[in-house]
Amino acid sequence: MKMSKLFVQTLREFPSDAEVISHKMLVRAGYIRKLTSGVYNYLPLMWRVLKKIENIVREEMDAAGAQELLMPFVQPKELWEESGRWEVYGKELMRLRDRHNREMCLGPTHEEIITSIARDGLKSYKQLPVNLYQIQSKFRDEVRPRFGLLRGREFIMKDAYSFDMTQEGLEKEYANMAQAYTKIFKRCGLNTKMVQSDSGAIGGSVSHEFMVITDTDAGENDVFYCDNCDYAANSNHAVSKLPGVNEGVKLTGDWKTAQIVDTPNTHSIEELCDFLKIPPTLIVKTLVYIIDKKPVLALIRGDKQVEETKLMNAFGGNDIRIATAGEIEEMMAVNGFEAEKGFIGPKGLKEYNGYEITVIADETVKEMKNFVIGINQKDKHGVGYNWYSEVELPETVTDIRLVEAGELCPQCGKPLKVTRGIEVGNIFQLGTKYSKPMNAVYLDQNGKTQPYIMGCYGIGISRTAAAAVEAHYDEHGIKWPLAIAPYHAIVIPVSTKDEEQMRVANDIYTTLKKHGAEVVIDDRDERAGVKFKDADLIGFPYQIIVGKSISEGNVEFKIRETDEKTAMKPEEAAEVVITAINNL
Ligand code: ATP
Ligand code: MG
Repeated sequence: MKMSKLFVQTLREFPSDAEVISHKMLVRAGYIRKLTSGVYNYLPLMWRVLKKIENIVREEMDAAGAQELLMPFVQPKELWEESGRWEVYGKELMRLRDRHNREMCLGPTHEEIITSIARDGLKSYKQLPVNLYQIQSKFRDEVRPRFGLLRGREFIMKDAYSFDMTQEGLEKEYANMAQAYTKIFKRCGLNTKMVQSDSGAIGGSVSHEFMVITDTDAGENDVFYCDNCDYAANSNHAVSKLPGVNEGVKLTGDWKTAQIVDTPNTHSIEELCDFLKIPPTLIVKTLVYIIDKKPVLALIRGDKQVEETKLMNAFGGNDIRIATAGEIEEMMAVNGFEAEKGFIGPKGLKEYNGYEITVIADETVKEMKNFVIGINQKDKHGVGYNWYSEVELPETVTDIRLVEAGELCPQCGKPLKVTRGIEVGNIFQLGTKYSKPMNAVYLDQNGKTQPYIMGCYGIGISRTAAAAVEAHYDEHGIKWPLAIAPYHAIVIPVSTKDEEQMRVANDIYTTLKKHGAEVVIDDRDERAGVKFKDADLIGFPYQIIVGKSISEGNVEFKIRETDEKTAMKPEEAAEVVITAINNL
């Protein structure tokens, strides 16, 4: 490919609306252009990268025994009603109507469609197990589409679905997919960690995410992990051992009797601690949440934070948010109190918005004695309170706590560490979550109908490309891993007017092409500086620069990953590239 013909417009500056590196780089280097919020054009360079990732995914999925198909992007409401998800899938599901007023949606994921395909086609145990996958665009009307390809509304995903007869069969396929994923990301030049995770809207019980570990802002997940053993989990799922952590922590207050004391203007735990001169571990903190429109109080020890996904799961909901100050005030009024944030407690709160108020306590409050708690009176708190005598311990006491670094590994007891991660893949054991409600069954050996035991396995193709940029860049541009680079190499004649330089550059270009390398020659009549800048920005893994030293028979060979430059003979330079691509 000639640079003069390559469809690419690099920009002088980073786009002003981009927050993260991959978004900035991919726009500036001419890979993507925004069409509308969260929706991007994949320009020719980008499309080459995406196809390479797709091909790696395809090769490894095929090698793992899965079969590719393609399902429609537009899906009918009826199937979503069968699974029960039409009602519960939130606003991310893009719903639309056709000319006959029939309701449809744009596929955010394809469990319903694949389950309908399976029940039509997989009727006998003799046909099982099966794993089917597709690579296709998905649409999710994300609340905050941001970060470019990392969190788009339209994005490309590989989604696979397995059908088994037994839980053991599913677990075997799950392990098979985990292994394929590890290979895929390694081939893409990415270091990933497989971490335990929450199952979210897809459902099921066991799930893992593949995270690209990054300390940039692009990592939307906190990952807790242990250096001593293999424990690693998303913060929405991570647990820790508390006993060791609690040594030396005061959990019992010194008040002789339960009483109500004045605590003016103590709206935060910190202010309350300062005022009463106590550690936060003596306070039972009450937070007010709205889960699927219903009021939920979360009780947790004053020094700990609530993990919202855990709380939502404990309640059994799909959508969680903290209540507003207005809602809290209203809730107080309805229940006959006058109090505001900072003074809320579970006692006496019965209903709100036509729903009974549910109280869920974290395990950390269970052992507390003579504690401090809100009593729904402004500028007052209860102190020296105890469970059962002054206030009921809620029926549901469970883990709703956000783990903190330094707490102890649930497996081996060593301190946990935390890092940020970008989720590039996700695997789930679904069980019969879709097959049962959709009546997707096969006949077993005894002629009895049985629902399939399902698994599902996703990889964000476009997110993986962006994550690769997050992991491989410097201030000059992208440093693509060779396996997913749009082109392997660029040949740069420093002066297009110099006949000798052009002759050698063209020779190298032809040799490389002949050996299967994907190569660009920068034939533009531009200053050398401009050409070097573009080559670095676009991120060609190898640059072969043909300049003055050709009079001594040498070219300059630059490796983008390290920015290392070496003088060598033109044929040697070509050889290095050819060897590298043959080793891919
Ligand atoms: P997230 O938690 O990041 O919203 P998810 O858990 O909802 O993702 P899955 O339903 O498991 O995502 O989808 C499988 C894969 O698709 C994810 O691992 C991710 O790589 C990719 N993906 C999901 N949402 C997006 C998005 N909005 N933009 C780009 N890729 C996405
Ligand atoms: Mg996920």
